[in-house]
Amino acid sequence: MNLRSFASSLLAALASAATLACIILTPARPVFAQRLPDTVRPEHYTLTLTPDLKAATFSGVESIDVTIAAPVSAITLNAAEIAFQSVSVTENGKQQTAAVTLDNSKEQATFTFKEALPAGKATLAIAYTGILNNELRGFYLSKTARRSYAVTQFEPTDARRAFPSFDEPAFKATYDVSLVVDSADTAISNTPIEADTPGPAADKHTLKFSTTPKMSTYLVAFLVGDFQCTAGESDGVAIRVCSTPDKVALTAYGVDVAKWVLHYYDNYFRIHYPLKKLDLIALPDFEAGAMENFGAITYRETLLLIDPKTASTGARKEVAIVIAHEMAHQWFGDLVTMQWWDNLWLNEGFATWMENKSVAAMHPEWKIDQTVANDEDHTLDLDAQPTTRSIRAKAETPEEINQMFDGIAYGKAGDVLLTVENYLGPETFRKGVHAYLTAHQYANATAEDFWNAQTEVSHKPVDKIMESLVAQPGEPLLTFSEPAKGSPRRVAVAQRRFFLSPGIQPDPAQKWTLPVCFKTDNGQKCPVLTPADDTLPAPKTGLFFANAGGKG
Ligand SMILES: [Zn+2]
Repeated sequence: MNLRSFASSLLAALASAATLACIILTPARPVFAQRLPDTVRPEHYTLTLTPDLKAATFSGVESIDVTIAAPVSAITLNAAEIAFQSVSVTENGKQQTAAVTLDNSKEQATFTFKEALPAGKATLAIAYTGILNNELRGFYLSKTARRSYAVTQFEPTDARRAFPSFDEPAFKATYDVSLVVDSADTAISNTPIEADTPGPAADKHTLKFSTTPKMSTYLVAFLVGDFQCTAGESDGVAIRVCSTPDKVALTAYGVDVAKWVLHYYDNYFRIHYPLKKLDLIALPDFEAGAMENFGAITYRETLLLIDPKTASTGARKEVAIVIAHEMAHQWFGDLVTMQWWDNLWLNEGFATWMENKSVAAMHPEWKIDQTVANDEDHTLDLDAQPTTRSIRAKAETPEEINQMFDGIAYGKAGDVLLTVENYLGPETFRKGVHAYLTAHQYANATAEDFWNAQTEVSHKPVDKIMESLVAQPGEPLLTFSEPAKGSPRRVAVAQRRFFLSPGIQPDPAQKWTLPVCFKTDNGQKCPVLTPADDTLPAPKTGLFFANAGGKG
């Protein structure tokens, strides 16, 4: 996701960090209160949705193929604001009806069966209705003065408002989606349309989308309305930028950027873009800046549409950066997804770091390194407050998960990756990224998987450095002084946590493991400072700069 709409507000970020700290300190909630058991795992969803835009409702017919690890007499999954009409299960040719109980506070539904289901395969069949809400989440109504659109926003925990589901990122499955829409409307989903057939009602047609790869629920998307698109192609992938009909003249710039970025990422990741098509869709009502749904990225209109006659360089730059951010997620987030929301920072930090890298390569004249330095200053300001949080923090409930989307998960995590890339060198870092993505594609991974891959590729202590920066709140301030007596080849260095307010005394025990990059005549040298060190090898010259490139 991209939070450009409010990420610029430091106050909002601070308030959010402060709220998170309060939640973490509340001891009453049992851990894993809202997590689903992993005895039953989804393999494949078949979904047919019929939205009624005028009544602001929809009906759904769903089947979920599941694998059961041990006998169960009940299956619990996520559902919110869903009215169940019928639920049954079939295993080994035997069908039985389920009793449905709802836990609205946990956003869960439990299906109980008279006869226990043995370990093995089973298929749930569910008929239900839901609401096209006005809350910019789940399956919702997006409105212009002319008409309504039915669109989705599922990250982090709102797929459950559109279809009963195992709505956690590690429950990856494949999807066959069909949408029944008005004859004059079209629909967009994650994959291309495979079949378009008239009916079932006289004024409707049914659009069936091809089977998705294995993916997380929060990346599913369906968008219904009279969208119009401008098409392009890059590395054999069909690219479209779509909007409401009145704005289609503003979509060409996005196509150009997306074509360039797709080829750049194919080359950077050395993994071809995983789907046959990529759509970027501007939506009239949209809460976040943009959302990286696999193959169907959604944007607020101002962050995708550009008027070629009047747009400023600043507007083009912002659109290019948001396109580059969401497209980076197609690999980093969509192809490989965090195991759980506590590692959201790895997704968002990576996309934040990568948006700058790719746009800097596309437009060197935009001097993106100045944007990076400016953003880094904001992050340092935020992180020098006592209210900041560590990059990795616990999040269990939907509210806690929503709190994770802040200036630390985006800005600080991006800066940590900038530091690591600068320390390892861009090519070694790229190889580590490739190794990580290849090992976990169409599956899930943790932060440890990422830094262990970087450690293995580089033979440098990336694991210790990243853990030190990710697990602790705040930022280190290093102070250098005269070489220690008797060791002219070394320089004395002290570290402490930096606070903007001089009245706050840091805990002397808080220390980091960090690469300290000295600028030299021919590039940089980066010895690693550990909490036990009070000296580092000194550069040969008498004067030195210990934050080469401003990337430490
Ligand atoms: Zn993002």
